Amino acid sequence: MTQKILEVVQTTILKEKPDPSTLEFGKHFSDHMFMMDYTSEEGWHQPRVVPYQSLTLEPAAMVFHYGQTVFEGLKAYRSSNGDIRLFRPEENFKRLNQSCDRLSIPKVNEEAMLEYLKEFVKLDKDWIPKEKGMSLYIRPFIISTEATLDVSPSRAYTLMIILSPVGSFYKGGIDPVSIFVENEYTRAAPGGTGNAKTAGNYSGAYKAQERASSHKKDQVLWLDGVEKKYVEEVGSMNVFFKINDEIHTPALNGSILEGITRKSVIELLESEGMSVCERSISIDEVIAANENGSLQEMFGTGTAAVISPVGRLEYKGRDYEINNGKMGETASWLHETLVGIQTGALDDPFGWSIE
Ligand code: PMP
Repeated sequence: MTQKILEVVQTTILKEKPDPSTLEFGKHFSDHMFMMDYTSEEGWHQPRVVPYQSLTLEPAAMVFHYGQTVFEGLKAYRSSNGDIRLFRPEENFKRLNQSCDRLSIPKVNEEAMLEYLKEFVKLDKDWIPKEKGMSLYIRPFIISTEATLDVSPSRAYTLMIILSPVGSFYKGGIDPVSIFVENEYTRAAPGGTGNAKTAGNYSGAYKAQERASSHKKDQVLWLDGVEKKYVEEVGSMNVFFKINDEIHTPALNGSILEGITRKSVIELLESEGMSVCERSISIDEVIAANENGSLQEMFGTGTAAVISPVGRLEYKGRDYEINNGKMGETASWLHETLVGIQTGALDDPFGWSIE
């Protein structure tokens, strides 16, 4: 695909911005949206920014029936001197294409998408909250639009990007989360779609999240889809353990999403001379390490919370406290460093934060 000129149709009526103090995740959207269409004849074409608006789709549009759709999530931050920063956005478009590949959706031009995104965010930059800890959540997604009930890949798609101002994940300081180890439902199976960001992985997780909530736990800890023995992810985050002063994380096995925060955490720790052991980690090993005192920390990593310490875990009807329910020093350092790089407050030797 050659790069196409971005057409911009500006809105004539600017929307009222939400009150930052009562901002809920993903409830408000900026003035504009990005759109681009695909047809078999023209490929991806007509990139455009238009006023945020409703869509018209036929009820037979394939996305409603077979869920051929993928999405991404990243954030734009405002630094203290006012410039706007994106964190490793090229990684998100790379992962979008990996998801496209798994879902038989035609790939996009990653470089062109990054340029469109920069222009689009610049246009709606007033929607990036100025308050500390707040940011603009960016949601690119692709839906299959061909109107047919045939079970086969669609021949028409629309890619959109919408922008939503979001508050700080941690309003009153970082509170470790509690998790429920799910050993009935699984999120993904070998050869399935676990490493793609596609809708069904998320709707298929609601039932387990309901159970975690009924046990008064914040999130689900997912085990592997075969033996329900190995730890995979926590909620919508990758998971790390500090055991005997070493950092361990489940190896990418095809059913785990390749988190960009996960990758950044590994690179950051390695740049400090610490190695991260990527391997299979069983839930029994985690419980035993907690019981014998060698489990020092457990934390999730993801765009939303960056680093989310785990303070409590329920497995087979028993509750375990981790690190006395407190955030550990590694999680704390990682959070501070990554947020510092994302917001331009700290030096960025990796070139991850793009102005
Ligand atoms: N796992 C799942 C299932 C997710 O949805 C996410 C969020 N994208 C992550 C892990 C963390 O990925 P990232 O660090 O790229 O946000």
